[in-house]
Amino acid sequence: MPIDATAPYDDQNIFAKILRGEIPNKTVYEDEYALAFHDINPQAPHHILVIPKGAYVSWDDFSANAPETEIAGFIRAVGKVAREAGLVEPGYRLLANVGMDAHQEVPHLHVHIFAGRKLGPMLA
Ligand code: C5P
Repeated sequence: MPIDATAPYDDQNIFAKILRGEIPNKTVYEDEYALAFHDINPQAPHHILVIPKGAYVSWDDFSANAPETEIAGFIRAVGKVAREAGLVEPGYRLLANVGMDAHQEVPHLHVHIFAGRKLGPMLA
């Protein structure tokens, strides 16, 4: 079910549990600001999720409320994950769903990295 991106943060969401180590994941990268892991239901040959370590419901919450060091650290981590996976050439797509109409399902900010096939002009 899609979530309301304006709801308060729920620390029982599945990515909060992953961050606390309560649920296993296939980690590809971790630093002070971010954790990246393989999506459990990949939509492309490479489908990685990058999540901030801080408790943010969505990109909206994060961009409005996170300290600049966390924003910079997270954005750098997303780029590093893609670079280290060798995705810069031939290319990759970033996607962050926000709220109901975008079909955001997990109420902890996550950026999808898709790559490994021609993705077409849109991912709708
Ligand atoms: O952007 P959205 O919220 O729709 O995406 C959630 C993503 O989290 C899905 O791609 C789903 O496969 C992934 N997921 C996961 N591991 C879980 C639960 C969800 O990789 N345990």
